[in-house]
Amino acid sequence: MKIICVGRNYLAHAAELNNPKPSNPIIFLKPETALLRPNEDFYHPSFSNDIHFEAEIVVRINKEGKNIAEKFASKYYSEIGVGIDFTARDVQNELKSKGLPWELAKAFNGSAAVSNFVSVSEFENVQNINFSLNQNNIEKQNGNTKDMLFSINYLISFISQYFTLKKGDLIYTGTPVGVEKINIGDVLDLFIEGQKLLTVNVK
Ligand code: ZN
Repeated sequence: MKIICVGRNYLAHAAELNNPKPSNPIIFLKPETALLRPNEDFYHPSFSNDIHFEAEIVVRINKEGKNIAEKFASKYYSEIGVGIDFTARDVQNELKSKGLPWELAKAFNGSAAVSNFVSVSEFENVQNINFSLNQNNIEKQNGNTKDMLFSINYLISFISQYFTLKKGDLIYTGTPVGVEKINIGDVLDLFIEGQKLLTVNVK
């Protein structure tokens, strides 16, 4: 499986990092070794002093496809979850300033935390889902998928022009405003529509 991530898909978050509004989705990949499954602890890496959480809705692809038209994209997923795109912001800023790829800042071990998945049939409209992240019981991020610059179906169509999507692939759909640094000992809780779906302990 592969992990496909979308950058700057919420305008307020792009602005908080002083990034311009993208005209096309910004895509990057994480390897399978980045996956942090439910009940696994996140071990703070020593190469960064500024790891941020980024709470994101995660879409799980349910069948193989490429060059998927946007109008058929909803047939390629039936479950969503919530996860964290852990980002070494200090490393990313250095790489960005040099025009270098982001992998060392984004694709390291454990950098893709993900919850268990829930059926999309539980939601009236996948583009109107509230999700949030608490750091040590204080809400830090609260977003709604209606604020995505590029919708889930558009993302699936766009990504599948470049990468064949396979069953089990995960798409991290971008983070809303409110990203912040984590510290060892933190407890991060993630919610969809107020229901807690994931707890990550930072060790
Ligand atoms: Zn992200």
